[in-house]
Amino acid sequence: MKLNIYDFTPEGLLAYLGDVPAFRAEQITKWLYSGASPDEMTNVPKALRERLKAELYTALPRIDTRLKSRIDGTVKYLFRMEDGAGIESVVMPYSYGSSICVSSQAGCRMGCAFCASTVDGLDRNLTAGEMMGQVLAARRDSGQNITHIVIMGSGEPLDNYENVLTFIRNAISPKGLGLSARHITLSTCGLIDGMKRLSEEGLPINLAISLHAPNDTVRKQLMPVARSVSIETLLAEAEKHFEKTHRRVTLEYALIRGVNDSAECARELAERCSGKPGFHVNLIPVNSIEERSFRRSSREVVAVFLNTLIKAGVQATVRRKMGADIDAACGQLRRAKKGKNT
Ligand code: SAH
Repeated sequence: MKLNIYDFTPEGLLAYLGDVPAFRAEQITKWLYSGASPDEMTNVPKALRERLKAELYTALPRIDTRLKSRIDGTVKYLFRMEDGAGIESVVMPYSYGSSICVSSQAGCRMGCAFCASTVDGLDRNLTAGEMMGQVLAARRDSGQNITHIVIMGSGEPLDNYENVLTFIRNAISPKGLGLSARHITLSTCGLIDGMKRLSEEGLPINLAISLHAPNDTVRKQLMPVARSVSIETLLAEAEKHFEKTHRRVTLEYALIRGVNDSAECARELAERCSGKPGFHVNLIPVNSIEERSFRRSSREVVAVFLNTLIKAGVQATVRRKMGADIDAACGQLRRAKKGKNT
């Protein structure tokens, strides 16, 4: 397979092109981050455009399926990568601009019990270019002004560290997408070495931790990663990120009926988080997936859970559900379509 042109940083592309003058490389990157193909780069000499096409993979991911919510305008995409891998992304329009949720891997090997993306394990890592491709293809198709990126689709981003970091650097580079680092969120189940490494990069991006349990016993039932990393270690590392970047850390907590939604669980979580201004708890009534029997907590239970946290002085919210009518919990569309095209 050819290298994806978006796998390069703008500086890396200049170096790759060799004797091409810097201003030409800049013209090319400008076009690239507007989502244009070489044929559309009208101020670039034809020979150079032909060279790009011959040597590099320059196409954006192909749209296999597009589902648009009639309720709130959320658009869910199933993209096909060059090798046929199916990748999901979701564009959510907000008052401040649009946010895109991108996938970092095809499949996932973390094995969380409630998650559809992990049912068939990991197919492969996505390259930095394939992640950028999701943003550019979705922007081009939806016409939305994408101002925020959440790396919260299929896959564990810290299990694909180098590629994810290159993608983030290209997203925040003024020569790349030019987004603010503060508008980028990376969500992890808690790979501690990756978190430490990320913290050393000193990037003021937002961190989200998939916590889903108030103690290690419950967490181990839901998330295999909990066997090697304790909640205490995880939250200590998350606090360091807050101290270093002053970016609040979101603790994601999917409420699952009868598993982690008791009043005792709420109190235990409140205790862990109270007096920690760096944490914000985001409660998500779990999306049931076909392959598992988990069910979401009732509205009343969600309200009690939320109130327990708030009364203890913990910042907490219930995630607003977007695209309810095109629902397909993360990874579901990809699975439904599997076998047809891959
Ligand atoms: N691997 C990363 C990012 C991908 S998962 C992580 O673990 O954070 C993105 C978020 O969706 C995580 O918080 C994950 O726990 C959550 N999630 C996965 N399946 C879900 C489901 N069925 N219902 C609600 N949230 C789910």
